[in-house]
Amino acid sequence: MDFEINTKGKGLFLTLSTITLILMMAVTTLLWWFISPRLHEISELVTNLSLTALRVFYFVLLLGVILVYCTILFERNFLIARFAIRAFIRILFPVTIFLGKIIGLSQEKMRESFVHLNNSFLKAIKTKYGPSHILILLPHCLQNTDCGIRITTDIHKCEKCGKCDIGRLAMLSEKYNIPIAIATGGTLARKIIVENRPKFIIAIACQRDLVEGLREVFPIPVYGVLNDRPEGPCFNTRVTVEKIDLALQKILN
Ligand code: SF4
Repeated sequence: MDFEINTKGKGLFLTLSTITLILMMAVTTLLWWFISPRLHEISELVTNLSLTALRVFYFVLLLGVILVYCTILFERNFLIARFAIRAFIRILFPVTIFLGKIIGLSQEKMRESFVHLNNSFLKAIKTKYGPSHILILLPHCLQNTDCGIRITTDIHKCEKCGKCDIGRLAMLSEKYNIPIAIATGGTLARKIIVENRPKFIIAIACQRDLVEGLREVFPIPVYGVLNDRPEGPCFNTRVTVEKIDLALQKILN
C-alpha cells in the first residue's frame, strides 16, 4: 500500500508526542523518587523491585519509540505499526493535544499532522483489501451549493456535471465497484459504517472531523484525506480525485 498524499507533515505530532513521553517519564521518575523513602521503610526488596520495573518499562518505551521512528522513516512495519496506531489514538493523542494547547500550538496544525502520521502507519502496514471491504466516506460540503440534486441518500444520483468533485468520486466508486457515501454528520457516518461494515475506510474531511472520525471508528483503519477549502470551511470544498484513485490502486488486492 503506497499512498501518495497526506503523509508528509507528520513531524510536528511525532516530535510533540516524543516530548510528551519524555515528560511522562520524568513525572513518573519524580513520583517514584518521592515515594521511595516509604518503599524503603517497607523493605529493601520492594524498593529494588519497583526500580527494576521502572527501568524495564523505560527500556520497552525507548525501544518502542525507536521502532516507531523506523516505521515512519522507512515506511515499513517494524513489528509495532498496529500497536503504535492504537497507542497514538488512545493515549498519546489526547495527552499531546493537551501539551500543544499549553504551549500555544495551533490545534488545526496538530490535527493535520496527526492525520498524516496515521496515514504513514497505514502505509507501513501495507494490507490490501477487496473492493467490497473498502468504504469511501465524503462530507456534504464537497457538493456544489448551487446543485439541487439530493445526493445524500444516493451519490449515484449525481449527474456528473463537473461543477464539483462529487461526480468524479462517484465515477471512481463505479470504476472499482467500491461503496461510497456522503455523511452529513457523525450520527449518519456511524450508521453508514454499521450498514457497510468496511474493513478499510478512505475518509475525506477537514482536520477536526477526520481526527474525531478515525478515533471513533478505531480499530477500523481510516486513511484520512484533507479536503481543500478555497472558499472557506464547509463551503464548496474540493479534493484531488486522481490521488485517491492512485491510493485505491495500491490498496485494492
Ligand atoms: S457534479 Fe453532481 S453533485 Fe456536483 S454539482 Fe454536478 S450534479 Fe451536483
